[in-house]
Amino acid sequence: MSNQDYNKMGTKKFLLQEKDIPMAWYNIAAEMKNKPLPMLNPATKKPIKEEDLYPIFAKALAHQELNQTDTWIEIPEEVRDLYKVWRPTPLVRAFGLEKALDTPAHIYFKNESVSPLGSHKLNSALAQAYYCKKEGITNITTETGAGQWGAALSYAAKTFGLELAVYMVKVSYHQKPYRRSIMQTFGAQVIASPSMSTKAGRKILTDHPTYQGSLGTAISEAVELALSTPNCRYTLGSVLNHVALHQTVIGLEAEKQMEMAGEYPDVLIACFGGGSNFSGLCFPFIRHKISGEHNLRVVAAEPASCPKLTRGEFQYDYGDEAGLTPMIPMFTLGHSFEPAHIHAGGLRYHGAGSIVSQLRKDGLMDAVDIPQLESFGAATLFAQTEGIIPAPESAHAIAAAIREAKQAKEEGRSRVILFNLSGHGLIDMTAYEQYLAGDLSNYNLSDAELKKNLDELEQII
Ligand SMILES: *Cc1c(COP(=O)(O)O)cnc(C)c1O
Repeated sequence: MSNQDYNKMGTKKFLLQEKDIPMAWYNIAAEMKNKPLPMLNPATKKPIKEEDLYPIFAKALAHQELNQTDTWIEIPEEVRDLYKVWRPTPLVRAFGLEKALDTPAHIYFKNESVSPLGSHKLNSALAQAYYCKKEGITNITTETGAGQWGAALSYAAKTFGLELAVYMVKVSYHQKPYRRSIMQTFGAQVIASPSMSTKAGRKILTDHPTYQGSLGTAISEAVELALSTPNCRYTLGSVLNHVALHQTVIGLEAEKQMEMAGEYPDVLIACFGGGSNFSGLCFPFIRHKISGEHNLRVVAAEPASCPKLTRGEFQYDYGDEAGLTPMIPMFTLGHSFEPAHIHAGGLRYHGAGSIVSQLRKDGLMDAVDIPQLESFGAATLFAQTEGIIPAPESAHAIAAAIREAKQAKEEGRSRVILFNLSGHGLIDMTAYEQYLAGDLSNYNLSDAELKKNLDELEQII
């Protein structure tokens, strides 16, 4: 692009001040006409109560999890102060990408990759560590897939003086050694999952000695350790309502920044693993849909190899492999679904959170499936035109945004697209290396494979 082209551009970056960091998180459950179905106790099949969650989560988080009455939940001052380290994040107009696509569409992205740990995950990690510390908890456990959640939580745990044990999905433990080192740098203990350190891990290893792990298995191990260790609680980086809640700072800021840009999005896009970055960007905008103020299209971009929202079933299922968690009403591929080893490790999860699942059921959002090669093609084009190497997860959102921009071009009309850049991919260069060498492929999931796991689900709904 010549200098002249740059001179012709409008404002590229929309920046807010520290004072514009939201004072409260947005709790969409309070405004939904159809509330999400309750989580169930797996033994009694009765709705769980807040107290039932106390052995697993900090009380404040258990309360947020089931809160369907308070629309706004104040962000504690200490957490908001820590947000100031990198928030508000920029909203960027992707002129370079628009030009490469020769599209009349206006493409914006919210850049969550500028957090010190490189992804949106820190928004919830700091909040969860804060509430644990405040309640006198000394140890926390968690699982991590590609390692972004573990990395964010390691820093958060250190900040609040908590000991952290992370169960890292075995395939990622070996594929992403640098994320492991990041966690260890912050002082966390990192264990490849499945491991011999828990009953759940030992059972899986006995049945499948070469199993490379999944988020579901790692969750089982982390929950088991929390339940069997005094003064220890479990934390989760996605799926749950309180995690989605903490992420709404993304969309609340973006709402103000789109106003600064003088536009309102026609389409909102985020990649989808368990739904936290999607919820974070989209819930504050879906609010306008619920109130009838705006009718925008909201799209979750999931990997074709793990298509819970497009090909899964709406049913009660466990959040983990071993069935230790409460039963969650979710779009699911079945908790024993074993996803292909795609590089977007953070998107390899069998289910979607209960709020998102209800929104999907009620037609308030759409979903698309992106094949692995399309996601890396989009990531490469984005890197070359915007100068940021995106996380392989975020690449799914970029691919979906490119599809929308191309469609706008075919139809010859403008369209305002906003997607979330959930993280950067600077620690995922092995994946890019393999893509560039032509060593990556798409994974097609047959209906028979899908059905096998879905048939095992108990028909509660
Ligand atoms: C974890 C992660 C995801 C997927 O998780 P969600 O809860 O669905 O947001 C997406 N992008 C990045 C960069 C991640 O770290």
